[in-house]
Amino acid sequence: ISPLNATAPNQLERSLKHFFGHDSFRPGQREIVEAALQNRDLLIVMPTGGGKSLCFQLPALMRKGVTVVVSPLIALMQDQVESLKNNGIACTFLNSTLSWEESRSRETAILQGQIKLLYVAPERLLSERFLPFMDMVRAQVGICGFAIDEAHCVSEWGHDFRPEYRQMQLLRQRYPEIPMMALTATATDRVRQDITQQLALRDPKIHIASFNRPNLYYEVRQKTKQSYRELVKLIRESKGSGIIYCLSRRRVDEIAYKLQREGIDAIPYHAGMNDQERSSNQTRFIRDDAQVIVATIAFGMGINKPDVRFVVHYDLPRNIEGYYQESGRAGRDGEPANCTMFFGYGDIKTIEYIIDQKTDVDEQRIARQQLRQIINYSESTVCRRTIQLGYFGERFPGNCENCDNCRNPNPTEDWTIEAMKFLSCVARCKERFGMNHIIDVLRGSKNQKVLKYGHETLSTYGIGLDKTADEWKMLARSLIHQGLVEETTDGYSVLKLNEGSWEVMRKQRQVFIAVPKAPVNTDMTDRDR
Ligand code: ADP
Ligand code: ZN
Repeated sequence: ISPLNATAPNQLERSLKHFFGHDSFRPGQREIVEAALQNRDLLIVMPTGGGKSLCFQLPALMRKGVTVVVSPLIALMQDQVESLKNNGIACTFLNSTLSWEESRSRETAILQGQIKLLYVAPERLLSERFLPFMDMVRAQVGICGFAIDEAHCVSEWGHDFRPEYRQMQLLRQRYPEIPMMALTATATDRVRQDITQQLALRDPKIHIASFNRPNLYYEVRQKTKQSYRELVKLIRESKGSGIIYCLSRRRVDEIAYKLQREGIDAIPYHAGMNDQERSSNQTRFIRDDAQVIVATIAFGMGINKPDVRFVVHYDLPRNIEGYYQESGRAGRDGEPANCTMFFGYGDIKTIEYIIDQKTDVDEQRIARQQLRQIINYSESTVCRRTIQLGYFGERFPGNCENCDNCRNPNPTEDWTIEAMKFLSCVARCKERFGMNHIIDVLRGSKNQKVLKYGHETLSTYGIGLDKTADEWKMLARSLIHQGLVEETTDGYSVLKLNEGSWEVMRKQRQVFIAVPKAPVNTDMTDRDR
């Protein structure tokens, strides 16, 4: 098929059906494929699951010669090649895992024109030994394009800079006539510019897809002592497989073990396990031998499992971008999938602790800001999509009908009286205690600390029994976020009053908080867990 005929009406659709079995293109794919067939350089920014691979795979199959795909992850490379081969597509990869004989036999196949797509790792592509082979490929069968996957790796401004990607500059110098397509799922404006510059793209056609994933249902739930039962229920009610993200290796092991005892097919995945165990668990999950994988964020980059039906963040994610990427591993096939996050105040402490361990002050500052953003996301009563997409600079009008806040808007309630009680108690305790202690006093606890300070004699002692400890916490957090009380950041989290607090106490100001739809559970504080 010559490129001109290829874009004739329906020809592209026919090829799409022929090679991949899909009936129609996803948004953007057709224009991209057309531009690629016209040998244009391209920069494609599409969210994970958006269908990037097809953008270089289809043109590769429709043209003479080989398309060289650069991919940084060996596991991903093997996966893609495997699944393409299963579809009868002539492709192969060359990387360090292969024996010398195997490499040679693949190289021969390439030179004989039996291969349309060749996957290589960047360090290999640009090695002294490999470049002469590339020259032979160019001379004998032709190279019709380069596809640079995970192109954000060329940029130090991205989240995953890889020095070996820097050398990709050589590609343009050495193969100036060969069109190049750069693909990534994450690129801020800055990173986009960097990619274009580093790879020396020539007047590239830039395609930036919406990051909206309409098939994903986003939900945030309060973390309480009941959350574990909710998790089990969620898994049991889901027909398909899912990923459960936890903050630490210890938590991963613990949750995986508990779920197994529950009779759920759950396996762990984290960086503390040996390579073999890890890759075997990953394979089991991908092959549906295990319904659930419990994992740290070490899991998922480059995993190609389109039918993940749910992703649960059992612990708070560290930032919005991470949350978007991790939850985005659900529903890559476009079918409905659930993304549930459990939001517990205890996790904030854990993440703060992790942040405190960082030695670089700038890193600390950024991490703190990211933490605040994810807390705001969790506590917000606004459409979850609006917040997530806004983070990527995309304006979304809200009313998505597919997040908890849109389907079931939180009522706000007037909690002025409660706020006055709470803040007065902070004042009575002389602004020297954290929220747990204040709540203990309000709820009339007889614990050691209360008695030690004689706080059972305060006028605010026991005036808060009409609310659960969790409800008081919710109020306290809301007051902090609304700037109506301060929490010290020196690690002791002491509550301090400010001007706003006094306005509330003087009845000059009302306090509204969004109350969760489900009643907050009684006496289930994070500390009890
Ligand atoms: P990305 O690389 O952008 O994360 P993939 O290329 O892995 O996404 O595609 C995600 C899923 O979408 C895959 O299962 C793929 O088969 C499917 N897909 C891609 N394009 C189409 C299409 N036009 N029609 C139906 N499914 C598609
Ligand atoms: Zn919404």
